[in-house]
Amino acid sequence: MTTWRDHIDVLYDAETIKRRIAELGAQITRDLAGRSPIFVGILKGSVPFFADLIRAVDLPVQCEFMGISSYGDDTESSGVVQITYDLTKTIEGQDVVLVEDIVDTGLSMQYLLASMATRRPRSVRVCTLLEKPDNARVKIPLDYVGFRIPNEFVIGYGLDYAGKYRNLPFIGVYRGPT
Ligand code: 5GP
Repeated sequence: MTTWRDHIDVLYDAETIKRRIAELGAQITRDLAGRSPIFVGILKGSVPFFADLIRAVDLPVQCEFMGISSYGDDTESSGVVQITYDLTKTIEGQDVVLVEDIVDTGLSMQYLLASMATRRPRSVRVCTLLEKPDNARVKIPLDYVGFRIPNEFVIGYGLDYAGKYRNLPFIGVYRGPT
C-alpha cells in the first residue's frame, strides 16, 4: 500500500541537520562574542531550525519573530511579500540575526532586510538553513548557510507543502501529487 511517506525522498536526515546546526551555532558564537544578539525567526518555516539553532549558540540571545507570507499554497515564488506578524520590541542599536528556513529567489529576504534597515539595528546577519543558489533572482548577502541545495521543492523540518509536513524531523524532496 502506498502512503504519503512514499512521496518523500530524504535529503538530509535528523543527525546531519543536528551536526550542521552545531557548526553554525559555534560560528555565530565566535562571530558575536561579547554581544547579546536578537534572533529573529521568520514564521512559520524557521520554527524547528530556530529552536535548535538558539540552543547551539553560547550567548545570551533574545528571541523575536516576524511573520511574512510569500508563497500561498503554491510551489512557485510569487515575489509578493507581506508582513503578517511584526517584532514586539525595538531592535535599534542591536545585533540582529535573521533566521530563515530557505532562501530561494531571495525576494522575501530582500524585503526583510529593507524592513530591518529602517529600524536602525547595529548589525544584521542572515542565517538560513537552506539556499537554492540556482533560483536566485536577487543577490542577498547570506552570512550563514546550512546547506546549498539544487532547485527542487523540499519539505520537512519546518518547510511545508500546502501547510503540511513541517513536523518531519528530516528534510526531503516532495515528489507527490501536486
Ligand atoms: P524566496 O522569496 O526566497 O523565493 O522564498 C522564500 C520562501 O519561499 C521561504 O521562506 C519558503 O517559505 C518558500 N520556499 C522556497 N523554496 C521552497 C521549497 O523548496 N520548499 C518549501 N516548502 N518552501 C519553499
